[in-house]
Amino acid sequence: MKAKGSKMRNDRLIRDKSKDAYMKTNSPKASMVCSNCGAIFSNGRWTWKELINVLKETTCPACKRINDNYPAGFVEIKGGFYSGHEKEISNLIMNTEKLEKKERPLERIMMFRIEKSKAILTTTGIHIARRIGEALSRSYQGNYSFRYLDGEKSIRVFWERQ
Ligand SMILES: [Zn+2]
Repeated sequence: MKAKGSKMRNDRLIRDKSKDAYMKTNSPKASMVCSNCGAIFSNGRWTWKELINVLKETTCPACKRINDNYPAGFVEIKGGFYSGHEKEISNLIMNTEKLEKKERPLERIMMFRIEKSKAILTTTGIHIARRIGEALSRSYQGNYSFRYLDGEKSIRVFWERQ
């Protein structure tokens, strides 16, 4: 009886540790694969790891957001500095996405639109939107700010340098 009790406690600890705030699911124990991007849901979280025994196919929350055109993050980049450094800034943003997405499959850029002396990005997660703002601020200073909306389910990030 004692051994059984301690095993149950261990199971609970493992489950709590793997819980991610941005990922909610109805069946946390099932292994699933996103038929669109290949992300794997296993032990309560999304990864890029390959699994031998995937139980069923699904669409991951990031692909769902992309399909529904329902972003979680909005990033607005403005100011004269941007016009002169478009390419550099785009590279920084794409590299930030690459790193973030590797660790967190649900954090992706959905849309990246360049307008006259301005760029607008949308993202599938709130985390990556902040990461992009932080990367811009770290590399080029300027004014960086953000605000959460919807009880922190979405975010707007602003960065500007004249
Ligand atoms: Zn997917």
